[in-house]
Amino acid sequence: MSADAVASRQSSVVSRLTFREWLVRTMPRVGDFFVHILGQVRILKKLYPGVMHFMIFWGVMIQVIGTIINILNMALFLPWVITAPRNGWYLGYELVMDIAGAMILLGVLMAAFRRYVLRPKTLETHWDDTVALVLLFLIAFVGFTNEGIRLMVTRPAWAAWSPVGNWTASIMTATGFPVQEAAAWHDALVYTHVILALLLVGLVPFTKMRHLVNTPLNILVRPRRETGELAKIEDIETTEILGVGKVAEFTSQQLLSFDACLRCGRCEEACPANFSGMKYSPKELVQMLRKTMVSGLMTGETKPDAEIMSSVMSDEYPWQCTTCGACIIKCPAFINPVDEIVDLRRYQLLTSGKMPKSVGDTMRNMERQGNPWGMPPENRMAWAEGLNVRELAPCQETDVLFFTGCAAAFDERNKKVARAFVKIMQKAGVDFAVLGFDETCCGETARRMGHEYIFQEFAKQNIETFGKVKFERIVTACPHCFNTLKNEYPQMGGNYEVLHYSELLDELVKAGKLQLAVGSGQLAVGSGESALREGEEPSTVHRSLSTVTYHDSCYLGRYNDIYAEPRILLDKAGVNRVEMARKGENSFCCGGGGGGMWLETDANTRINHRRLKDALDVKAEVVATACPYCLLMFDDAIRSKGIGEQIKVMDIAEVLAAQMEV
Ligand code: SF4
Ligand code: SF4
Repeated sequence: MSADAVASRQSSVVSRLTFREWLVRTMPRVGDFFVHILGQVRILKKLYPGVMHFMIFWGVMIQVIGTIINILNMALFLPWVITAPRNGWYLGYELVMDIAGAMILLGVLMAAFRRYVLRPKTLETHWDDTVALVLLFLIAFVGFTNEGIRLMVTRPAWAAWSPVGNWTASIMTATGFPVQEAAAWHDALVYTHVILALLLVGLVPFTKMRHLVNTPLNILVRPRRETGELAKIEDIETTEILGVGKVAEFTSQQLLSFDACLRCGRCEEACPANFSGMKYSPKELVQMLRKTMVSGLMTGETKPDAEIMSSVMSDEYPWQCTTCGACIIKCPAFINPVDEIVDLRRYQLLTSGKMPKSVGDTMRNMERQGNPWGMPPENRMAWAEGLNVRELAPCQETDVLFFTGCAAAFDERNKKVARAFVKIMQKAGVDFAVLGFDETCCGETARRMGHEYIFQEFAKQNIETFGKVKFERIVTACPHCFNTLKNEYPQMGGNYEVLHYSELLDELVKAGKLQLAVGSGQLAVGSGESALREGEEPSTVHRSLSTVTYHDSCYLGRYNDIYAEPRILLDKAGVNRVEMARKGENSFCCGGGGGGMWLETDANTRINHRRLKDALDVKAEVVATACPYCLLMFDDAIRSKGIGEQIKVMDIAEVLAAQMEV
């Protein structure tokens, strides 16, 4: 093959690859355009406001398209002309335009009823909300009045194809509208209609109606990361900006997202921090940042380099968020307040040094001992004593690498969960091993709390260790480790197949390798060592329980879509499973994520107490968890309420181990 041919072939490969890359990048955005912009799928997840918005959106869209067709049909913008035949096509056009106008009117009336009569707590009303509704109503109303006048005077045979206009004409005729004044009224109303429409368009940049442009734009240009994946600080050793201290340091997409906020309050409704009474709301955060952006970067009322922390919010403000992700999946504008929270925390930890004391203590534990518990690293394998767990030496191999995680390694309660899980794997004959003392913290806590540097160091260490041994898959018992290894280690060059243990156990059950006792509907809590608290004797807690409720961990469910497996396992174990009102993607956080485990909180606003109430409301005797943080947060709430005889918390592995009597 000639050199030219090789070059030409290479260049065509490059252009093909580039096109493929372009497609890979573009297709999700095309999908979003149809699903979330035109289809309004996320908006429709809330029925009343969804239908209301859908009607206004599509009513306006159709009217705009129809008006453009009409104008081109009138040959107002030569050479662009559409010649619309006055036949069946035109009748269809009239009908569709009428329905679209009626949708606007109905949608606006629904919106007004909701905003001024129902008044949901999280919906604020500003002057521009009222202006938008009044203008939309008037434009549609004047349009129909005009059409009614036309039909009343001309009485065309096809009038029934404009049902609302025809109905308006009938009312005018019935009420004795003076036909001789029709022409004058018609002209005046045409001008009024046009002026109102132009006023609406002119007000778009100055009112909330800017979301007509900014929200679709934000949906299209938002970062395409996994939901549970934070942005990486590239070249952290040399970069000058660590986190965000000034509004100008947000990316242009983040600034756009502040302007895309509709103030709909869906994030606030879902936020566990807000629900628990903390002075914090993701909507308020986004609006505060928008205000800071406008005053600092647009109107010049404040200095663009003013510190956000001292001028806009307190140092404690970003620490109310548990990074539970509820706001992210609810927001119809695809705004991600967790990104901003982590950016602000990064600035506090890596630049200003101003942070709550408990945050500083946790980071010191991680720096000095390599784990947030602050336990000596030489204790890392104490949990496995007597279990004969294989520790992988360099070059050795295994099928399943059990990444134990710091909670299982250092927390007494979670050690029992790890032991239960290991016994189940042994019973099922799984070829597994651990890294032992070579394992280090996955870095999740540090990253969520803003210390990107510690995260990257820990990730590098673990990836190096993974590279020295051979395994097929990694399994973790902790959704926080799971999310980090699965979704964030690829940023650091570590690509692995990662499973949560509920996925592995489900797989084993389906393959017939794990037999669970089914049928009694009774769960003997405390029959094994696993469910016991420190100092408790089996006899004190051994009792039959029948009602178990599963609590969805945010990092397992919302961030990684694992809802079914834990429930399947509980059902296979034969327990009587009941669901809390807030479940699945609407589950309520335990309060432990995003560093919440390590923060001192006000006793009156504890998220775990609110969540425990959900379990008590369904009369559960056991809360089953699949996350070490959730387990500890429930345990803490049960202890502080002193209701340990009424309700227990157990990890799913403990439930299964108790049923299997391993
Ligand atoms: S991530 Fe959760 S706690 Fe944080 S702002 Fe969003 S809803 Fe609230
Ligand atoms: S951030 Fe999203 S969910 Fe929250 S108020 Fe704004 S648009 Fe609504």
